[in-house]
Amino acid sequence: MNARPVTMSVRVAEFIDGLGYVREVTIEATCPRCGGPRGWPKTQMMSMGRSGRDRREVDCWSNPCGHVDAFDLVLAEAEFGRAVLVEAGVLPQLPQPQEALCPS
Ligand SMILES: [Zn+2]
Repeated sequence: MNARPVTMSVRVAEFIDGLGYVREVTIEATCPRCGGPRGWPKTQMMSMGRSGRDRREVDCWSNPCGHVDAFDLVLAEAEFGRAVLVEAGVLPQLPQPQEALCPS
């Protein structure tokens, strides 16, 4: 039986002034709120610009536990580490994110 990977590399969108950029980051493979496994990342096309014509590949996943990951929080976790976010009170009691990871 294979152990679950501890981390996972994903491509997420970062929006600055309305324009999206794809960043590849490494995050923990568990849900930051309950510690359950994160869902398996799947490639999805996402609009990066205002016109909607510039579409890039990003990864999205839905966690089996039902907690929703958001790109902003994933970026913060990759940048600062989960311990820092817990220390700052951002995790684990964060409100429901406004922007879901996988917009339909
Ligand atoms: Zn969870």
